[in-house]
Amino acid sequence: MIALILDRPGRPLREAGLSQKPLGPDEIRIAVGACGVCRTDLHIRDGELDRPKLPLVLGHEIVGRVLEGGSRFRPGDRVGVPWLAWACGACSWCRSGRENLCPNALFTGYTRDGGYAEETVADERFCFPLPDGLPDHELAPLLCAGLIGYRALRFAGDAERLGLYGFGASAHLVAQIARAQGRRVFAFTRPGDAEAQSLARELGAEWAGATTDPVPEELDAAILFAPAGELVPQALGAVARGGRVVCAGIHMSAIPSFPYELLWGERSVQSVANLTRADGEELFALLADTPIHASVETFPLAEAEAALDRLRRGSVRGAAVLVPS
Ligand SMILES: [Zn+2]
Ligand SMILES: [Zn+2]
Repeated sequence: MIALILDRPGRPLREAGLSQKPLGPDEIRIAVGACGVCRTDLHIRDGELDRPKLPLVLGHEIVGRVLEGGSRFRPGDRVGVPWLAWACGACSWCRSGRENLCPNALFTGYTRDGGYAEETVADERFCFPLPDGLPDHELAPLLCAGLIGYRALRFAGDAERLGLYGFGASAHLVAQIARAQGRRVFAFTRPGDAEAQSLARELGAEWAGATTDPVPEELDAAILFAPAGELVPQALGAVARGGRVVCAGIHMSAIPSFPYELLWGERSVQSVANLTRADGEELFALLADTPIHASVETFPLAEAEAALDRLRRGSVRGAAVLVPS
């Protein structure tokens, strides 16, 4: 089976034929139908996240069909493979419903091989059953952009006026859920990114502008999807007393120092790390009643480098997804 291999961070992905691995007790082999391209892949590819498994197959937004193995699914079932590939179940975090913080966890497309390939192997206990209906490439972005975005939205509490900083794969899904929940959405993009601003307005944002524009009114919470540390004090300055700034990315440039008065008034800053299986079950249940539409640009598997480069330059409208031929 064909896979794209990262030999070393900073080097382009290389196409290679891999032989099939024998399956462990809880493992299933999956024919990949689509795999989303996440900003995290870019951070790993560019060497901004340390200690990846090497050589590595990237990709943790996998939708595919079960070929063989395990006992939970039948051959042909459609499953989703998310970022959390495995957690120990024994540590204090796992035992308190926070397997996302497990220090022993393994991650798809980072410390385990992922889905930039024709086939992948996953632990069935960490896969999600997916309904039929939507095509694979429209479901793929939900597996990380949707899930992490949803977890971040939960941490925004009952904020009515919600700022989304960075309007890409995750924010365009979160905006739709937030609107369905009756929240007001304000979208902040890179200066001059008219394309992302128009997508935000189409999806129900009542205001869309640049991060450098004056904020039209005070926000109750802000979620930062852009990996730019200077947005933290900026977003703190935009939220009202008691407001929360949620950092949804796995990597961010350094946060510049800022005056304490930006944090004063019981404002808070928090990060979101990974996801739990319960997050996925909750999101997929919610989507059964709240259909949301992923705006997707598909690329053939062999063009993963081009997709990553588009993401690096911020020129993907919505989410980029790889589709093996
Ligand atoms: Zn654990
Ligand atoms: Zn991701």
